[in-house]
Amino acid sequence: MGLLSGKKILVMGVANKRSIAWGCAQVMEEQGAEIIYTYQNERMKRGVSRLVEDDNRLVECDAANDESIQQAFKTVKERFGKVDGIVHAIAFAKKEELEGSILNTSRDGFALAHDISAYSLIAVAKYGKDILNNPASIVTLTYFGSERVIPSYNVMGIAKASLEASMRYLARDMGEDGVRVNAISAGAVRTLAVTGIHGHSDLLKISKERTVDGQSVTTKEIGGLCAFLMSDLSTGVVGDVIYVDKGVHLI
Ligand code: NAD
Repeated sequence: MGLLSGKKILVMGVANKRSIAWGCAQVMEEQGAEIIYTYQNERMKRGVSRLVEDDNRLVECDAANDESIQQAFKTVKERFGKVDGIVHAIAFAKKEELEGSILNTSRDGFALAHDISAYSLIAVAKYGKDILNNPASIVTLTYFGSERVIPSYNVMGIAKASLEASMRYLARDMGEDGVRVNAISAGAVRTLAVTGIHGHSDLLKISKERTVDGQSVTTKEIGGLCAFLMSDLSTGVVGDVIYVDKGVHLI
């Protein structure tokens, strides 16, 4: 018996085997959960299809589009019934705005980064309510750049601050339906999303040097907290941002 035996979890944001969402899915599966995946579009489906053989478990969902989210959740409910949790591991900003000065942020780029990286959590919670059991758990992924100024992280740092605040308001308003909402603040990991940040190799190197043991956090370590937050052991944890960064935020 694992921590998550009998639980069905929807994981949004697996692009490939390096994805944080994939680390989360693996640990949750080891703990007995049944995992269902959403992918952004046909192009992104290729990566997740290499990892998940059962096509029935793959559902298209563009987090920038309300109809796509509603359709995806309808499909999930038809195929699997209600689920016990949703992992939101989705973010995007224009590559040209993840470098240099924050003054180069355009109105469009600001709106886009916030739409996909922060508002999408509210949209997922709004439409996801109908497919969630009581109790259920929603977890999103954030980064330290919401609190501290990190080179090149720029508009994404502002979007992460918005994501964390959205998480707290959702936590308050979904509590009466038995849905708890939390965020994992993950340490820097080399994923597809990170390669969009100018100077990401330096960012990863500095981050590794600042961990307490000189080793970067792994996606499975991040997955460990995700599994706990999806389990009934965490029913008292509400509206928190919890670090899994091997102490980088301390130093
Ligand atoms: P990743 O590239 O593997 O995953 C990002 C995912 O976002 C992809 O699957 C992509 O398809 C999805 N996405 C983007 N736009 C979308 C849209 N419109 N609709 C649906 N999906 C969309 O990278 P990752 O680093 O695993 O990112 C997952 C989450 O973790 C992100 O929120 C990221 O900001 C956060 N995070 C990453 C790090 C890190 O160092 N990698 C650290 C802390 C937090």
